[in-house]
Amino acid sequence: MTTADPALRAIECKLDEGISLSLEDGLTLFRTSDIHTLGRLAKTAKERKSRNEVYYVLNRYINSTNVCYANCTFCSFSRGEKDVDRVRMSADQVVAKALETGTNFNQLHIVGGHDPRQLSLDYWLPLMRRFKEQLPHVQLSLFTAAEIDYMARRHRLSYDEIVAQLAEAGLDNVNGGGAEVFSERFRREVCPNKVDAAHWLEIHETLHRHGVASNATMLYGTIETLEERLEHLIMLRESQRRSPGYNAFIPLAFHPDGNALSHHGWTSGLDDIRMFAVSRLMLDNFDHIKAYWMIQGIKVCQLALEFGADDMDGTHGSTDEEMIYHSAGTRSGQYVDDREFRRLIEEAGYVPVRRNSTYQTFPHDWKPEDGMPERALAGAGAV
Ligand code: SF4
Repeated sequence: MTTADPALRAIECKLDEGISLSLEDGLTLFRTSDIHTLGRLAKTAKERKSRNEVYYVLNRYINSTNVCYANCTFCSFSRGEKDVDRVRMSADQVVAKALETGTNFNQLHIVGGHDPRQLSLDYWLPLMRRFKEQLPHVQLSLFTAAEIDYMARRHRLSYDEIVAQLAEAGLDNVNGGGAEVFSERFRREVCPNKVDAAHWLEIHETLHRHGVASNATMLYGTIETLEERLEHLIMLRESQRRSPGYNAFIPLAFHPDGNALSHHGWTSGLDDIRMFAVSRLMLDNFDHIKAYWMIQGIKVCQLALEFGADDMDGTHGSTDEEMIYHSAGTRSGQYVDDREFRRLIEEAGYVPVRRNSTYQTFPHDWKPEDGMPERALAGAGAV
């Protein structure tokens, strides 16, 4: 196989020998003009991990509140108490929304702002137990580490204590948000009121020790340097070594509408593709790299399958109303039919595999057991 950039040959040797790449290797990968070799290396690394498979999940996505006072400058989603477009769902509304389009899904994905009137154990523990009772086939993928840090401080609990309670109530997975970029410089300028990097990592490592899986993200495309992106990836790799339990890494492209960092504009297709490839190659102890169609758009995400990604995330429900990226200008819709996922994955030459949050797999036409939909809907007061 020819390699136009000779600097990539040494990196390929390291990859073949199973040696983790250094920050300098990562810079070479980000800066190479040999995008085809970069793709080939990342695709080979993906196939070592997940062979010819690419994953997706039938899920429901809910933003249960957009009230937040953390004032992150990249955020277009948060609202104050008096804003007319503030959203704060009651527990009954969350259940009704989750069941609005039926019960044939395997993951419930909920994130929200740091809302003092909703983000508490008094609200969430009974709601989680209710979901587990009514929808035992659905994994709960709730919160980010930033939300767990907020709740822990609010209840004056240690991370160990709060995670134990959340795990006992049925938490299966914690979402990867809130990581942004771990650099202190970045966090001081962009999100000074949010959990810092050390505590974000400590929360995820605590979750893993309690048997709760998690994902990790990075927000790219604003003030961060390439070195800071790579330091972030290396910190995640080290965290996975200390306390394994991360399933997927999800690169999140910055969206510029309606926030204080709008002048950075949109990320480019090439930056997106490089980000997927470099993530795959740097994170040698992460099983999955996710190309989330809502973030980079479904066409770029299909292309990302050639650059190391092996997951396209979830369908969402056909009436779901994602607000975080839609407030910031995403041109993606709200929902993708699972047949479309399978078509795109097969066209890329891979086998589509339906999964849940923890990557247990299902036949594409799997359904909950007979009677489950009626029981769950009756429990929600929807029939
Ligand atoms: S990014 Fe999250 S924590 Fe920051 S302001 Fe927005 S909702 Fe709040």
